Parts: sequence; C-alpha cells; structure tokens
Amino acid sequence: MLRLDSVQRHYVQGDNRLVILDKTDFSMVRGEMVALVAPSGAGKSTLLHIAGLLERPDAGEVFIGGQPFGSLSDPERTAARRNAIGFVYQFHHLLPEFSALENVMLPQMIGGQSRAVAAERARALLDYMRLGKRAEHRPAELSGGEQQRVAIARAVSNNPHVLLADEPTGNLDPETSHYVFDALTALVRQSGVAALIATHNHELAKRMDRVVTLQHGKIIPYDLANS
Ligand code: ADP
Ligand code: MG
Repeated sequence: MLRLDSVQRHYVQGDNRLVILDKTDFSMVRGEMVALVAPSGAGKSTLLHIAGLLERPDAGEVFIGGQPFGSLSDPERTAARRNAIGFVYQFHHLLPEFSALENVMLPQMIGGQSRAVAAERARALLDYMRLGKRAEHRPAELSGGEQQRVAIARAVSNNPHVLLADEPTGNLDPETSHYVFDALTALVRQSGVAALIATHNHELAKRMDRVVTLQHGKIIPYDLANS
C-alpha cells in the first residue's frame, strides 16, 4: 500500500546540513496499523509529509498502491493526495465556517462526488464515529475529541489507500485520547486502509500491529518493552 524506497531528506540551517531521512526504506501492507514513536525533532512530521506527498524527497521514491509518485507533476500529486491519502494533524485543521458534515463532504465533492452521495457517506462516517448528533455543528462548537473524530472521518472520506496521522491525540487528555484512538482503530480495521500514526503515547502504540522509530535517518523496528 505504501512503500518508501531509499528516501532522503535534509534541511540546511545556516552552515549545518541536517540529514533527517538517510536513504531509508519502509513499507506497509493493506490493513496494517503502524506506530511511529520517536523523540521530538527526529523527523516524524518530515516522514509523514513525504509519505503523504506534501513534500518531495531529495532522492528516493514513494510508492502508493504500487504506483511511483516522485516524478509526477504538482497537479498529479495533488490529485493523488486527494484520492489516495488521508491526513490527520495534531490540531484538527477543520474548516471553521463549515459544519462537521460539510467538512466530511468537501473532499468528496472536490474529488467529483455528487452532493447527495457525499452527504450520505459523511453521515455514515459521523454516525460510525458516534457524532451523528453533532453533524450540523461547526468545529468551534465541538470538544477537542469530537473535532479529532471529525478530522479522522474526513481523512477517510475518499477511501484512501493510506491514512497518515501526525500525533493525532497529542493535544488531548488521556481519556479522550483513548476514545479517539478506539474510533480510529475501528475505522482502520473496518476500511482496510494502511495507517501510519506518529505518537508519543506508548499505551496507544502497543495496540498497533507494529512499532517503528527513526534513528540516524533510518526507519527501524522499535521495542516498546525496552524503552
Ligand atoms: P518531529 O515531527 O519528529 O518532531 P520534524 O520532522 O518536524 O520532527 O523535524 C525534524 C528536524 O528537521 C528538526 O530538527 C527540525 O528542526 C528540522 N526541520 C523541519 N522542518 C524544517 C525546515 N523547513 N527547515 C529547516 N529545518 C527543518
Ligand atoms: Mg512533528
């Protein structure tokens, strides 16, 4: 579903060349949930942005559903991002002037879906996230946990191959984190999407199929028991 092949990324800060990803390889199969656990500054967001086609690698290739994306033009990448990838941020990034329902409808309509079909799917997803009663509310009228559940529903609304989440519960209290995470897990299991989730929360990471970390620019297995 997702494969990174010898991906390289560096930043230049003054005279320093900061290597974030050093010819790293990584892959995820359909329906797999992988936790990415690494200290702040290790490159988690960089990795997710490259996997999510938000940033280009300096070298290497990103495959999604078996197709290479590195050489695509910007419009092609934008279309691919819309159709093949769902992204959840630490802060919900919902559009404030639209209701929860409309926020989940919009990516579908931009992708060419009719209003009626988009609305039906958005309702079903919000019901699944137990937000049916909150569908007409705007983000500001929702709690942090509810906002993140809407953001997750929106991220999967176009049936992506890959769901990428950058510390999706980092802004929530522990109890809400668990609740949001349960909803996320159920949705991933039900939809078969491959999910890569950056988190600092080891309790949550434990419940995934696999845990990886970033060390010296490489993605390697991570043993929660030895941390
Ligand atoms: P994480 O998400 O694990 O906290 P990031 O991927 O955000 O890590 O950042 C990894 C490193 O790259 C950090 O040291 C950060 O300061 C640096 N970095 C990130 N983005 C840029 C940028 N646009 N320019 C320069 N340095 C950056
Ligand atoms: Mg980050």
